Amino acid sequence: MRIADLFKSKKAALSFEVFPPKAESGMDGINATLEELSALRPDYVSVTYGAGGSRNAHTAEVARKVRALGMEPLAHITCINSTKAEVLSALGELSSSGVENVLALRGDRVEGATSADFRYASDLISFIKEQGFDFDVSAACYPEGHPECDSMVDDVRHLKYKVDLGVTHLNSQLFFDNDDYFRFLDMVRLAGIETPVQAGIMPLVKASQFGGIVKMTAAKIPSKISRMYARFADDPESLCEAGIAYATDQIIDLLSGGVDGIHLYIMNNAYVARRITENVRPFFEKLNSENAK
Ligand code: FAD
Repeated sequence: MRIADLFKSKKAALSFEVFPPKAESGMDGINATLEELSALRPDYVSVTYGAGGSRNAHTAEVARKVRALGMEPLAHITCINSTKAEVLSALGELSSSGVENVLALRGDRVEGATSADFRYASDLISFIKEQGFDFDVSAACYPEGHPECDSMVDDVRHLKYKVDLGVTHLNSQLFFDNDDYFRFLDMVRLAGIETPVQAGIMPLVKASQFGGIVKMTAAKIPSKISRMYARFADDPESLCEAGIAYATDQIIDLLSGGVDGIHLYIMNNAYVARRITENVRPFFEKLNSENAK
């Protein structure tokens, strides 16, 4: 199913993000994770591409497994560290794997590496269209602003340009303060962007996430989370429970505020996906059944 159509039939969508293993030997692990995720019946599963600037060959392979398990894949594709020929080959592989949806991204910068062919995600979106691929194209957005852009207004202007090129759906960067998301959504709608904007939620369930991915995204850390970390960083079980509770609370508040959907950055942790899905499932079911009436 094309993701644009999914949002026509649902008031609120729930999806997960997974990342492929770096080595072939990791495929068994991700396959087992995907099997557990399929039991949770997400609206789709997104599969990252070379996050951190690396390139890896397993995005299409993992997307094929997502499909084989009866779930809808959204395959990420980046451009900043690739040539047009490389992007064309990656898109061709996704297309021949039956993937209908791609998330078109610039990609994380790698020191010293520049692409003569692409500068921004918008270049990639234009390229996908020019080459005649029939993908439903999604893009990324940033409730706290992209770290490289000095002005929120300019960032939203650049976002509008991506949407005008044919993007049908946006997935947000992770954030921990819902007010940032609601403020951003107001700006986006004022700018004339009407596409669904799914909120990216990362449950903070491991101490290593604080120094790693959270630092990399430059997300603002509310004092409630700082206290959680200070108290439970050395107690993995309590930190995991606290992280699940925080994310659950965040999701319920976002649903209360009318969010189009939640995209869970689960870091390949099927246990966390299951716990949070069990907590929030009744809200999604209620909203979507009201929508069906
Ligand atoms: P862009 O939309 O190109 O924006 C990048 C910066 O350029 C912004 O500051 C923007 O304001 C500015 N800009 C855009 N257009 C113009 C213009 N015309 N003139 C001047 N400035 C402009 N990375 C990976 O490597 N692999 C992944 O799988 C991956 N998945 C992601 C999924 C999501 C949902 C998100 C939010 C991010 C993901 N990333 C991934 C990280 C992403 O690649 C980085 O955040 C990257 O820095 C920006 O990507 P973008 O597509 O948003 O870039």
